[in-house]
Amino acid sequence: MNGSNISAIPHDLLSTSFDVGNHRFPGYWRFLLPKEFASLKLPEEKIADCTACPMVSVGAYDARCRCCTHIPQIANYQLGTALSERNDAIQKMIQQGYALPEGIDLHPEQQRLFHSAYSQGRFGLDESLRCPLMDVDTGMCDAYMYRTSVCSTFFCSNDHGDSGARFWDGLKQLISQIDLVVAQWAMAEVGMDVPAYMDRKNSLVSQFDRSVSGFRSDSPGAIARGWPKEIRSFMFGEWFGREDTFFEKCSQVVWQHKNELWTIAENAVLYEASAYERAVEAYVQGNTVTGERDVNNATDAPQVEADDAGIGELWEELLDAYENLWRLPGSDELLVLNPDVVFLENACDDKVSRFFSSKEFCVFLSKPENEGEAAILYISADEVSVLHLFDKPTALTDELLKQSPFQNIGKARAFLAQSVCNGLLEIRAAQQ
Ligand code: SF4
Ligand code: SF4
Repeated sequence: MNGSNISAIPHDLLSTSFDVGNHRFPGYWRFLLPKEFASLKLPEEKIADCTACPMVSVGAYDARCRCCTHIPQIANYQLGTALSERNDAIQKMIQQGYALPEGIDLHPEQQRLFHSAYSQGRFGLDESLRCPLMDVDTGMCDAYMYRTSVCSTFFCSNDHGDSGARFWDGLKQLISQIDLVVAQWAMAEVGMDVPAYMDRKNSLVSQFDRSVSGFRSDSPGAIARGWPKEIRSFMFGEWFGREDTFFEKCSQVVWQHKNELWTIAENAVLYEASAYERAVEAYVQGNTVTGERDVNNATDAPQVEADDAGIGELWEELLDAYENLWRLPGSDELLVLNPDVVFLENACDDKVSRFFSSKEFCVFLSKPENEGEAAILYISADEVSVLHLFDKPTALTDELLKQSPFQNIGKARAFLAQSVCNGLLEIRAAQQ
């Protein structure tokens, strides 16, 4: 690796958000994604307004947690950049033992506690699950520029409904996978043998009970206990005691190759400690982990897998999901109001309807029984007028878009595309 100093990194590019539309992504994303990403028209996600959290307002989440009852698995090179920025919150997490060489890596007992809490409906409500990077007094994220794709793509409500959720989920998967690949690539660049590291991780299965025994506690603090010192020593090897330097070197080498990261990610293999991952899954689900037998018993399942990370495919899937966000009728198609849509005046008679008191109408969309509950949206009287323009199948023409209801709502095409995604409007072939 190149030995130039970490201070050579011009931090303004990393500590400044990468803005696309009204979204602020971590600075590194400008180097992780194809240039084309910056020109995408992303859903605004107006309902998920974190400056006035609707989930807190309606009592679904606690104000001291919001949606930050999660621990982000920040990649090693991002940790290194944060350390070189003297980010105290990240440094504290590392000191508490949350990190292994790939980055923040939750201990099996931490994973079990989160899984159990989520299955009991405590997401957003239980302070013991709160991310250590959330400033509880301000509600702000102390690692905003280093937060993961899980945090950056989470919206408690999607303007474009399921289509929006699919798009953001695709972006989350893509960046998560790139982060993993780049983190492993950085480990190798600073001299750590990644397959050997995965073997060490697999070997943790044989001491599974011992490694989790010190953590078996449902007390409030249990989640804040990271990996025990002896396991960190085993996993970091010669870097143990110099973890900060390790992370900073990972950051440095990634920065030096910043313009090649997409190519690196597309071509690199992704290693996985498969035996370990299977054992953790069993442990988290409450099944017995059989220690030595899981590692050593003859089994066809590979212990360390090295696969194509599938970055190109994830990007293509993301672009497909993107196309779907903005679908409007073509020249041989018509737009029509879904006959299952019902408009009711907003009665403002409960917390949710009062939160949306500026919207005059509530929209119900009856779905077939096997497709879940009726969707409920709150929209303005002008938006209802726009939707009624399509009571009968109608072509979307420039003349139509000049009519007054459209003039009153602004961003008419975006509203129509959202309404298609939400199932309020349907696209039909003109000859039907
Ligand atoms: S994304 Fe989180 S903080 Fe933002 S509005 Fe939704 S629940 Fe609140
Ligand atoms: S990293 Fe920031 S955004 Fe993510 S869970 Fe923690 S506080 Fe919330």
